[in-house]
Amino acid sequence: MDDNRDQNTIFVLFGATGDLAWRKIVPALFRLFCNTKLPQRFLLLCVGRQSMTERALSERFKESAAARAHGTFSNDDWQRFSEQIRYLSADVSIQKTYADLAQFIHQQEQQWTQTSQLLFYFSMPSTFFSPIVEGLGGAKLNRNDAVVVVEKPIGHDLQSFRDIDNTLKRFFTEEQIFRIDHFLGKETVQNIFAMRFGNPIFEPIWNRRYVDHVAITVAETLGVERRASYYEHAGALRDMLQNHLLQLLCLIAIEPPVVYDASDIRNRKMDVMSAIRPFNKETLDQRAIRGQYDKGRIGGAEVPSYRDDLDVAPASTTETFAAVKLFIDNWRWQDVAFYLRTGKRMAASVSEISVRFRDVPHCAFPVCFGLNSQPVRLIIQIQPQEGIVLKFMAKEPGSLMTLKPVDMRFSYKESFNIATPDAYETLLWDALRGDATLFMRADQVEAAWQLFAPVLTAWSETPPNDFPNYAAGSWGPESSDELIHSDKRQWLIPD
Ligand code: NAD
Repeated sequence: MDDNRDQNTIFVLFGATGDLAWRKIVPALFRLFCNTKLPQRFLLLCVGRQSMTERALSERFKESAAARAHGTFSNDDWQRFSEQIRYLSADVSIQKTYADLAQFIHQQEQQWTQTSQLLFYFSMPSTFFSPIVEGLGGAKLNRNDAVVVVEKPIGHDLQSFRDIDNTLKRFFTEEQIFRIDHFLGKETVQNIFAMRFGNPIFEPIWNRRYVDHVAITVAETLGVERRASYYEHAGALRDMLQNHLLQLLCLIAIEPPVVYDASDIRNRKMDVMSAIRPFNKETLDQRAIRGQYDKGRIGGAEVPSYRDDLDVAPASTTETFAAVKLFIDNWRWQDVAFYLRTGKRMAASVSEISVRFRDVPHCAFPVCFGLNSQPVRLIIQIQPQEGIVLKFMAKEPGSLMTLKPVDMRFSYKESFNIATPDAYETLLWDALRGDATLFMRADQVEAAWQLFAPVLTAWSETPPNDFPNYAAGSWGPESSDELIHSDKRQWLIPD
């Protein structure tokens, strides 16, 4: 679908001097440009509070784009791309900014002698979303040909999400709002669909009869880096669990769609969300646990504790690790536990989903030692490995019928031998073409906040008394192991 090439486009990037714009958004736009996927007439209008020249901003972006060009960076390409960059130094909380924006857009369209598609990207904390939307509305920039892309997390709880969403919907229709969750743009995540619904062999075993449990791990060795002031108010649950991990769960648990399109996929995801068993006060502590990292060692180097970060309160109670046990109360998944965990400063940076199948009910072999100790698992590797591993039992060579666990592997890199596009590249291209399949609908985000509301309330009402409770470089607090050990199961230590 290359039909956006002729569509003049002004891409307004709010928060252009921030981390995300520098690291992800602009490099992704540059790669789209190099792959001739941007409209022929395209302008990137960057909005930020800092005062700087277009040239200085462009130089900053260039460094990041070059580092992320997979060794194919060309100065000429960058030169042509950077000619499309403009900078408006402005405060998004004052109305004049939107009058200036409207004037800029008007002048550009006069020069093009045509109206354009407007894309407003909110790469800013969500406290700014409502003022920006109201500003755009006030300046009549909420035109029919405009779309807005909003970053996660949207709000910090159910009420603040609803407030932002109501404001968005006062000025834009649902079709114009693209709520980004960059995990959904990852090739390996999209491949969950391909694997489940492009092959007939998985569907018959993809249910409570064959699946014992599902474990989803999204772990990072990194700490909060330059994002401590944001993270202090967010924490692992809001930053990761409520969005990325829940989206992964939806893709594992979703019913087969009739057609692969935005409406059907998002309806099916809502079916999952609405079947997730709510948390209640009595069992909350057994289903949701939190942690914060202490100092420790990663990759042979000492790293400080979370509380030692400059922008973190010395007695901070923000969780840098969160794990939950969820159940999906429907015919397919009744009583199958879904364990989700995420944390910073963990032993490895790895994102993967482990689907653990049930034990063999009876051993027919002469030597049965260890038969169910290494159960059959399907591991969906999202990053840094990209692929799928089936762990199963095979006969060990020799005269005895002895079984040993083995791996069968699919690797993206080896099978396709091409660089996989970054998630932002995929999602930005989709947004430019108006394809919302990989974006979140309001009801999904609302359901996610609703699900975790009791946990957020309980955690804020009862500050933890054991923080920090895990060493940097470990796999999280002991309570995370207890969460799964109490069901006589264990987390899979990633390869
Ligand atoms: P950031 O703090 O680095 O950048 C925020 C930007 O907003 C800066 O350019 C700042 O100058 C600008 N800004 C702040 N107040 C302003 C004002 N009144 N007027 C004009 N500009 C103003 O934040 P970030 O890390 O780039 O994150 C942006 C958004 O993306 C957040 O919603 C975050 O949750 C989300 N996000 C970030 C990452 C990431 O890795 N950085 C990942 C996923 C989602």
